[in-house]
Amino acid sequence: MIPLVKALATGEKEVEAGAVRLRREIHARPETAFEEIETARLVADRMRARSLAVRTGVGRTGVAAVLDTGRPGKTVLLRADMDALPVVEKTGLAFAATNGKMHACGHDGHVAALDAAADLLILDPPAKGHVVFAFQPGEEGAGGAQAMIADGVLDDPRPDAVFGVHLWTALPLGQVGVAPDAMMAAVDEFLIDVTSPGGHAASPHETRDTIVAAAHVVTALQTIVARRLSPLLPAVVSVTSMHGGSAFNILPASVTLRGTCRSFDAEVADRLPSLVREVAEHAARSLGCEARTVYRKINPAVVNDPHETERVRRVAEALSPRASPARVTASCRTMGGEDFSEFLLRVPGAFAFVGAAPATFPRGPHHAPDFDFDERALPHAALLLAGFARDVLAD
Ligand SMILES: [Zn+2]
Ligand SMILES: [Zn+2]
Repeated sequence: MIPLVKALATGEKEVEAGAVRLRREIHARPETAFEEIETARLVADRMRARSLAVRTGVGRTGVAAVLDTGRPGKTVLLRADMDALPVVEKTGLAFAATNGKMHACGHDGHVAALDAAADLLILDPPAKGHVVFAFQPGEEGAGGAQAMIADGVLDDPRPDAVFGVHLWTALPLGQVGVAPDAMMAAVDEFLIDVTSPGGHAASPHETRDTIVAAAHVVTALQTIVARRLSPLLPAVVSVTSMHGGSAFNILPASVTLRGTCRSFDAEVADRLPSLVREVAEHAARSLGCEARTVYRKINPAVVNDPHETERVRRVAEALSPRASPARVTASCRTMGGEDFSEFLLRVPGAFAFVGAAPATFPRGPHHAPDFDFDERALPHAALLLAGFARDVLAD
């Protein structure tokens, strides 16, 4: 750990400048899920230039690079996601995107931080073992982690530990947020189609009203969290879209609802699909309509390994010259989701938030068109990633 701190003390400005340059370059040309062609090419070229073994096309547009110390030891996988969002950027930044897409979640920063972590680990290499740098496509609900895993990113060398970070603007710069168990929620999606024969608005008694039934379904769904699940186990049910009808004088034959459920606990996650189905069907049927539910699980919960979480805390505190326990928030949780959970299902590891609240003036939250983060978080994130790897490989 100490040599890395020294290396950073002398090279910090350089690492920061390089990471900021790369972040801005990626930010200016965002690519959404599985279209990260240019981003992947850029990253692969940079990894090859460092003489690392590089595999491209891992999970379609993913890149995996391996640092081999030449001496047998453990393997650590560090992951950064590369995808942007279909958001029209309104930041006014000099390097703002103009192609109708935007790095509105900070994944441009994740790529830059992991790239800088590779520099740090080459500058001061671990004595033994391997480090896998995984640049992942399609994190935003597109199944990029699963695609990389299916393409063998966890095979040969098989990691003993996996780590990922997310720049987090809800946390102040310099803070690290982590939790020793479930840290981010399981993400599910549902679609409910409320149907009836449809009819004339003037004669509701001759048909069944899907609009009123759908409104009851929306309200009834809120009783799942309030009345059917333990108050000690967090969950969210949100209806996010409601579509039906075409004219003022027609009762539509169909109203479609879409939404999402979030949960931490595995038992709650198991119960949610049948609860949504049951509540929707019964609420609709009580008004003479039918409800058909399609329920899809997108990501499991991000569940950190307690031992690796302790490592994250220790490394985070040791790496900062201003380190104090207060700089690590040890029970940082959100109902947001992350497909890093797919890695954590298979290999022990930890995910951490790196504080990146913008310093100058208020910005929108993650996914907002005016989202931005404090670029001084980039060297911090790079240091952490390199630090996690070095700590595991020193075991
Ligand atoms: Zn996001
Ligand atoms: Zn994200």
